[in-house]
Amino acid sequence: MSKVFYSKDINKLLEATGLDKIITKDDPVALKIHFGEPGNTAFLKPDEVRPVFEKVKACGGQPFYTDCNTLYKGPRKETITHGAVAQAHGYTDFFIPEEDDCLAQEVNLKHFKKVYLGGAVAKTPVIIALTHFKGHELTGFGGALKNLGMGFGTRRGKLKMHQDCKNCAELKTCKRNQTIDACWIGAPALVQEKIVEYAYGAVKDKKCAYFNYIIRVSPACDCYDYNDLPIVPDIGILFSLDPVAIDQASVALVNKIQGRVKSGNKFRALYPNVDWEVQLKYAELLNLGSRKYELVKI
Ligand code: SF4
Repeated sequence: MSKVFYSKDINKLLEATGLDKIITKDDPVALKIHFGEPGNTAFLKPDEVRPVFEKVKACGGQPFYTDCNTLYKGPRKETITHGAVAQAHGYTDFFIPEEDDCLAQEVNLKHFKKVYLGGAVAKTPVIIALTHFKGHELTGFGGALKNLGMGFGTRRGKLKMHQDCKNCAELKTCKRNQTIDACWIGAPALVQEKIVEYAYGAVKDKKCAYFNYIIRVSPACDCYDYNDLPIVPDIGILFSLDPVAIDQASVALVNKIQGRVKSGNKFRALYPNVDWEVQLKYAELLNLGSRKYELVKI
């Protein structure tokens, strides 16, 4: 059973994390984050995550924020404009790899033999996922696993996660238009498993830690240039060394609290065709973590 720590105060939570145990002096430390699409206001703000950055520095590490470019069209599709978005949203100290700065990581799993990850993964022995926990139309919710998996995929990798050519209605006429517009098809279970395989590749041989911010829990992801009202009041921040346990605990906390969506399974109520449990079950099967957890309130 994995421990998941919970607090409304990031500074108190950081005291309980033991981050010093996974950071060796002068380690580059990748803080994996989503800088938010212009127009979206739900993404994590710099002042909310800066205490983690400072804590990493206090542990002797060399932190940097990072994300990879998007497959869909927009300013976050290219490194230079993606960086401009990060800056406009208040971020400094970031690294966004170009498409050819890619690590082809061997995983030898069911869907992929290799996964294509942004070069930041190759440059660091430590990954800390800073995840805005919210709903997602293809995976039910977006948590640590999705932040790692889809988030660390290069554009080529993201395309491979979204494509399901065999079952695609466009197959006969498809000109392999390499965009998400062409390949955004309804295969939530398959996409979830592929995301988990990318997450597996990203954390392979790394020291990792996870923060899930359960605040501004919007129904859809931060890639949209707008966001709807949160489905529940702000809950707080979770920390764990287990990406499966932290996502499982996050869903449970959202389901337990009274909110705008009246259901004990809020993400299923939002997206009836998406079984969000697939990602957790598959990640547990790959030994990425455990769905059993102990919630420790700080
Ligand atoms: S639209 Fe995408 S998923 Fe469908 S056949 Fe073409 S490349 Fe494959």
